[in-house]
This record gives sequence, C-alpha cells and structure tokens, in this order.
Amino acid sequence: DKVHAPVVILGTGLAGYGLAKEFRKYDQDTPLVLITSDDGRSYSKPMLSTGYTKNLSTDDLAQMDAGSMGRMLKASVWTMTKVAEIDTANQLIKVGDAQTAVHYSSLVLALGADVIRPPIEGDALDKVYSVNDLLDYDDFRTAMSKNEARKICLIGGGLIGCEYTNDLINGGFETETVDPLGYCLPTLLPEPAGKAVQAALEAKGAKFHFGPLVTAVNEANGGVIVSLDNGETIEADLVVSAVGVRPRIDLAQASGIETNRGVVTNRLLQTSAPNVYALGDCAEVSGHVLVYVAPLMAQARALAKTLTGEPTEVSYPAMPVTIKTPACPVTVAPPPRDVAGDWSFEIDGPNVKGEFRDAAGTLLGFALTGEATRHKMALQKELPAIMP
Ligand code: FAD
Repeated sequence: DKVHAPVVILGTGLAGYGLAKEFRKYDQDTPLVLITSDDGRSYSKPMLSTGYTKNLSTDDLAQMDAGSMGRMLKASVWTMTKVAEIDTANQLIKVGDAQTAVHYSSLVLALGADVIRPPIEGDALDKVYSVNDLLDYDDFRTAMSKNEARKICLIGGGLIGCEYTNDLINGGFETETVDPLGYCLPTLLPEPAGKAVQAALEAKGAKFHFGPLVTAVNEANGGVIVSLDNGETIEADLVVSAVGVRPRIDLAQASGIETNRGVVTNRLLQTSAPNVYALGDCAEVSGHVLVYVAPLMAQARALAKTLTGEPTEVSYPAMPVTIKTPACPVTVAPPPRDVAGDWSFEIDGPNVKGEFRDAAGTLLGFALTGEATRHKMALQKELPAIMP
C-alpha cells in the first residue's frame, strides 16, 4: 500500500546518495530504496578529470560500494537495475523486464545527465570515449593502457574538454583539442579569460584547433586519424569526446511527467506527478538547469526536509564554478542569459579579472583566471543570488 511504501530514489550519484544522507538526518525509520543502473559505488564525479594528475585508479576513486552505502544509510540499494516505467497514477515503478513492481510513498528522480554524442562517421568509433561516470572511467583507463596510448584527441574545449586536456598533459600525454568556437571554455568565459586558459595550456604542450568540427574518426596505423571539416587531420591513439551533457529526461517523458530541457520542477522539487520529485543534473528547477555539485547539495538539503514533513523551497546563492585547469585556475560566475550589461577587464598576462556589470554598475557576473582567482570571495559577496 502507498502509505507504508518506501521512499524510492532513482540514481546513486551525488544527488541520489546526497539526498539519502540528508534524509536520514531527519528520519531513521522510513524504508528507503535506492535503485541504480550502475554498480552503486559512491564516488565524487568531479574527481574523474583529475585521475592522471593525482594518479587515481578506479578503485582509488570509488569511496564505498553499494553494500556499505546501504548499511550506512539503512537503505536497500539495488544495483545494475534499470527502471523502465513509472506508473504515476498507482505510485509504482516497474523494474528491469517490468515483471517487478515497487510501490513508493515518494519517488525521487536523480537520474543525472547523458553525454551528447556528436554526429561523427568512420570505422573507429569504438576508440571514441566519453568519461562521464566511474564505469566509463574504468573503460577509458583500460583502453589507454591496452593501446599504449601516448596521444589523445579531445573533441570539445569546454569545461570537461579543458579539464581532461590539462589532466592528460599532467599525465605526460600529448593532446590535440578541437572546438568549433574560438577559444577555451567559450560558453562559460569571455574571450580574454578563455584566451588566458588557452595560452597556459599551450605553454604546457597542449594543441588546439579552434573553428572546425570533427567529422570522422577512422583506423590508421594502429591508432586513429581524426578528420576535421576544414580539411585538417589529427593522428592520435584514442579520442575523448566532451561536447556537453543533457539531462536524462526519457524516463519522465515516457511516464507522462512534464519535461523541458530537464525534468520540470517547482522550488519544492515537485514534478508534475503527485509525490514524484527530481533533483541533480536531470532536474530543471524553476527554469534553471545547473549541472554542478553546489546546486544539487542545496536541493538535497531542501528536499530532505520536504520529504520528512517540513515543506522547504530550494534557494540558490551566487554559485561560482571552479574549473580544474591547474595550468591556469579559473573561477567563473556567468551572468544570467539575456541580461544587459558589459564586461570590463584587468589583464596581467595569464591573470584576468573580468567583471560584468549593468548600466547602473551592479555586478551580474565575473570571470577570474590565474592569480586573479584571489578576488573570488569579494566578488561572490557582491553578486546577487541566483534564486533568492
Ligand atoms: P549522476 O552522478 O550522473 O547519477 C545518475 C545516477 O542515475 C547514476 O547512478 C545512474 O546509474 C542512474 N540512472 C540513470 N538512468 C537510470 C535508470 N533508467 N534507472 C535507474 N538508474 C538510472 N561539478 C562541479 O560542481 N564542480 C566540478 O569541478 C565538476 N567537475 C566535473 C568533472 C567531470 C569530468 C564531470 C563529468 C562532471 C563534473 N561536474 C562538476 C558536474 C557534477 O559532477 C555533476 O553535476 C554531478 O555529479 C551530478 O550528479 P547526479 O547525481 O545528478 O548525476
């Protein structure tokens, strides 16, 4: 029956496990079930792009296995289990082959985001990796040693592409990174800041191709040859694709739950279906899709209270993003889309301090590189909250 049914959380990433930990601070007794399509090991996803810098094996990255997590959380954790369908009218989910049905009192979607796969042709697509979770990481590390890889071509010069570029350089590998836009982190940073990151990575040996798209990856000499739409080619041993992520909305969509860019929720994290909530990378909270750790922690704290009887709206302070490019550290708080204002810069070699202000002089965003990252706290204090 629905009343004594467990709280069910789908997903055991930082959002799913983070919520379970918060929930247990207020409620030790309600049965809790976590269901994941992976092996349920807990790990810090941001660490994936520091693996060569810190020399971390998959086991080093994994903090606890599903069994230990279950004991710690007084929860039952079902691994390698894909949820195929949600029956929102009867408050049950259908698991695996849809033979098993589980009732929920509340259901939480913490399904994360999928990597976007760019349209690429060729006969070596099996050598194109994306590293978006712990199992991917293991596959990639295995392929790197099996192929005795020395040189990697990266598709995408955004946050993930630049972090992996820096990490692979730190690991002693050669890199060539391709992005159709004009400089590093082009969707997050204004040009002078992006150019500073580019220069710092180039000084460490990274190569960049800005402007072209990758069109094909084919076998060549035991490695691959990557073709660009400007006629250039890049030889490499393996390819890493990092062109962005997109919230996993398919399960919600197929179950008649409202979706847009993400699973649509209000500030209580409620979806359009009764007693179904969403948080983390899969959620679009009051119009915001923010695929970072700070927002999901704020969501987990609020939702844990809501689920234990104290309805609590999530609010977001200013949340600057730190990018793990040690060659040139970056902290950025991008201005909201569609706001009027102008960037101004103080530039001292690799150290760029960019401030985005409106006509009245109100700070709406900033971008800091190199030693200018020391201004983070002062500027963060001056920034308006994202969702007060
Ligand atoms: P995920 O961790 O992706 O978890 C999704 C879960 O859902 C998984 O357990 C999966 O198995 C499960 N699942 C999916 N579909 C189903 C299904 N149908 N049935 C059952 N289970 C399912 N953010 C920062 O703030 N700072 C950083 O420095 C930073 N660095 C990053 C570096 C890298 C390389 C990457 C990839 C991301 C980085 N991020 C960073 C983003 C941050 O890691 C994510 O925002 C966060 O980890 C998302 O957590 P999540 O729990 O929402 O999703």
